[in-house]
Amino acid sequence: MKDPNKAKTERMMVKRTLKNLELNRMAACYVETKEDALKLVRQIIPDGVKTASGGSQTLVQCGIIDFLKEHTKYFDRYDKTLSPEGRKQNEREAYFADFYLTSANALTEHGEIYQVDGASNRISALAYGPDKVIIVAGINKIVPNLRAAVERVKRHAAPANAIRLASGRFCENTGVCISPCFDENDLMCHADCGDDTICCNTLIMKKQRIKDRITVIIVGEELGY
Ligand code: SF4
Repeated sequence: MKDPNKAKTERMMVKRTLKNLELNRMAACYVETKEDALKLVRQIIPDGVKTASGGSQTLVQCGIIDFLKEHTKYFDRYDKTLSPEGRKQNEREAYFADFYLTSANALTEHGEIYQVDGASNRISALAYGPDKVIIVAGINKIVPNLRAAVERVKRHAAPANAIRLASGRFCENTGVCISPCFDENDLMCHADCGDDTICCNTLIMKKQRIKDRITVIIVGEELGY
């Protein structure tokens, strides 16, 4: 069980984050568990609609990918039978889905969503894709500000993903980025990182023109990378 004092500070941190996401014209809510997150997603997404997702361990852990596969027309990018062209086709179809789902590399307490991508299908769909976007993020993704978001990706998210993908990127063997700290001259991808880096493009989402296009669900558990 969580220490009650720590739990109280976490609740205050979540409250600040939710308030600032809403000020940035996103719908935002908190649920306690990954089961609650799945329940909420099931309430939002009607059966049979077109859905797509970015790569996300959080969505897998919550059972949301299984739900999408079973109850919606899901443009499946995980299907191992797909050729590289078939996968790319599904990633392109994702722009025309009714709902796009993913997680975040970091959420700042200022109400920003921070994402770093390799192929960048995820960040392009997030910025200008489906009319409805749902972002599910564990409480471990909340950081105070963008500086901490950059460091979170360099020290946790990208190395963990590099290890999962096992393709020999620098951080796969070191557990940390080749350039591990915040540095305004080297915000994300370092020139010395290999050509197959997973940190090519960065998206920071802040105040949105279309109110409530994005729904952020913060889950009170540690999820994903
Ligand atoms: S820039 Fe390269 S070394 Fe740094 S986190 Fe990304 S893949 Fe890893």
